Amino acid sequence: MARPILHHRTPQFEALMTEVCAGLQTLFQTREPVLMLASSGTGVMEAAVVNLLSRGDRVITVDAGKFGARWEKLCRTYGVEPIVLRCERGQALHPARLEEALARNPGVKAVLFQASETSTGTRMPVREICALARRFGALSICDAITAMGVFELPMDAWDIDCLMTASQKALMLPPGLSFIALSARAWEAQARADLPRFYFDLAREKKAQLRSQSAWTPATTLIMGLQESLRLILSEGLPRVFARHERLGQATRQAARALGLGILAEEAPSAAVTAVQVPASINDGKLIPRLMRDRYDVVIAGGQDELEGRIFRLSHFGNCSAADILTGITALEQTLRDLGHPFTAGAGIEAARSVLSEEQQHG
Ligand SMILES: *Cc1c(COP(=O)(O)O)cnc(C)c1O
Repeated sequence: MARPILHHRTPQFEALMTEVCAGLQTLFQTREPVLMLASSGTGVMEAAVVNLLSRGDRVITVDAGKFGARWEKLCRTYGVEPIVLRCERGQALHPARLEEALARNPGVKAVLFQASETSTGTRMPVREICALARRFGALSICDAITAMGVFELPMDAWDIDCLMTASQKALMLPPGLSFIALSARAWEAQARADLPRFYFDLAREKKAQLRSQSAWTPATTLIMGLQESLRLILSEGLPRVFARHERLGQATRQAARALGLGILAEEAPSAAVTAVQVPASINDGKLIPRLMRDRYDVVIAGGQDELEGRIFRLSHFGNCSAADILTGITALEQTLRDLGHPFTAGAGIEAARSVLSEEQQHG
């Protein structure tokens, strides 16, 4: 990314596009084109709404946290009427609830949800949600922004109609690029949908991509970075990438439990991020991320909205190794000790280490 900027209407850029577009299809596990937009994740969520829906459409949005709530806001902004399925924070959507809602509301156009709800560290039953949507004639629109490249999400095999991600999560890039693919059914819906769109018109983007180009000036520097991150991911191999994330997540959760801390999404934890409950022994939960950063140079996230001060979140995706987890847990132990939380010193490290050393034995 420090190399000189490429002009985008050149054979060099077209070669770069050809390579990254093929890599993105492997990552998404789809034969459909994966389109790139110069936007953050919210931009690509908006692209999904304006390309697939029409004014007055009724849709189901799954609100299991901050990002699920964003689907609802986006829909309302465009005059799309959401039926909101709210989940307890840390709980996944139960497929039976979705089935009931789809049966009760015939004509629902789409189900919009997260594969991994980043605000609570919860993994959603993507395959079941997409199968139900298809059975009831609705499109499945899946925000995989902290799921793509973290766990299995085969777009074509699971009939996901619209799948999207962004550069700054498990793709290990700076923010600013986003990615979206549509199924054949979704492309048909795209041609009929009447919401206004110009910059985010995916039909225009698809046409340009057929010539290894982009409709508008692309974020060339980020695409050069993407070439490298796709090479990293695909040379490790998707199954090994997914297994690594699973193991790092498990190590993190075991460490938290060994320190006497609860996991918010205990029943359906995401392999991307672990939301840990602030223990009763600590009055001000917001201090945990602050002290970890200021004293121990490890940056973690707090809770958002109603979870502020009640949880803290440890990520374990992307460019993350066993050594990173051990460093993070060490800093967490120090911080908890500073704040007076009682635990056996070293218990978290030992718990993480024992999960991570299985990894070594199994290669
Ligand atoms: C990070 C993230 C987003 C994107 O938000 P931006 O700040 O617009 O990039 C959307 N959905 C989920 C689940 C995320 O984790």
